[in-house]
Amino acid sequence: MQFINIANEGVKSLSPYQAGKPIEELERELGIQNIVKLASNENPFGFPESAKQAIIQQLNDLTRYPDSNGFELKKAIAEKFDLDMSQITLGNGSNDLLELFAHTFASEQDEIIYSQYAFIVYPLVTKAINAIAREVPAKNWGHNLSGFLKVINQKTKLIYIANPNNPTGNFLSQSEIEHFLFQVPEHIIVVLDEAYTEFTAPEERINSFALAKQYPNLIICRTFSKAYGLAGLRIGYAVSHPEIADLLNRVRQPFNCNSLALAAAIAVINDNEFVKKVAENNRLEMKRYEDFCLKHQLHYIPSKANFITIDFKQPASKIYEDLLREGVIVRPIAGYGLPNHLRVSIGLPEENTKFFTALTAILKKIIILATQ
Ligand SMILES: *Cc1c(COP(=O)(O)O)cnc(C)c1O
Repeated sequence: MQFINIANEGVKSLSPYQAGKPIEELERELGIQNIVKLASNENPFGFPESAKQAIIQQLNDLTRYPDSNGFELKKAIAEKFDLDMSQITLGNGSNDLLELFAHTFASEQDEIIYSQYAFIVYPLVTKAINAIAREVPAKNWGHNLSGFLKVINQKTKLIYIANPNNPTGNFLSQSEIEHFLFQVPEHIIVVLDEAYTEFTAPEERINSFALAKQYPNLIICRTFSKAYGLAGLRIGYAVSHPEIADLLNRVRQPFNCNSLALAAAIAVINDNEFVKKVAENNRLEMKRYEDFCLKHQLHYIPSKANFITIDFKQPASKIYEDLLREGVIVRPIAGYGLPNHLRVSIGLPEENTKFFTALTAILKKIIILATQ
């Protein structure tokens, strides 16, 4: 029996998600310590004390099911952003929500649009439900929204946009997004995935919640995994028209967000100091990466997120392996169709210094070999 033969057609073409290499795995393989992981866009400051306290409190009551409606967290999100609680849907990480949108709005053979080099979860959920993927070729590594408009047809149900995009860091401005939304038929759902929005300078960010009021077919998706440092707890939220939220809440699993995640998210959502510190470190350290690349004549994609993607203009797998031997884990993105690039998450100053030192040594060797 070959079970792949009985799998859903879409599933047959899938391969498993490739996560960043865990620190423990490299420790085992190389027998070295002090490994720096800059591979999964995680928060280099860990998670805030406020979350830790909330989790410790909540530990006393893991016997009961969590609040299925996530009332307190929705209330906190609504108050922070001046929204109505009925607009909010909570998810087990925003990945859960991204999947939920497809389950709720698309059926087999419907079409879903996303960009080449966009977040890998979009093709994953599209194929898993046996929908048809409309991957639009990228422009300068980012979304080509006029290309999106050209492939819209009768069967289009859903459009995914990551802004900033992962793994490229590209950013679409307020006017580009508005111009696009204005032209998308109102029966097509547009998902704006803003997992990295807290890293974008406040004056550059898109006023996405206001846009969601203006365009009822727009869903904004955010996460506590990145700037808030709660990736291991799995919690995110979507903001949409209340009718859309109602549909999403019908489809989601009743207890998709666990008690610890809910408690921690309530604690951190107003921890502005923490997020400010994280964003400030990212801003300063991003500048160091850009300077490093310029100095070493490395091409990079300008990024408004917490990572930078470097183009080595040659297959980057050897450089990735060499970095591992130096105790630095970054992210190969050949799986995205970018074999010459490596994505590096912005870390703490000393972590980034370790990366710069390791890469400098590796580049030197490459140059010596090339001139021999
Ligand atoms: C990291 C990331 C997310 C967040 O995923 P979670 O499931 O919330 O941890 C969502 N979208 C993009 C583009 C990402 O890179």
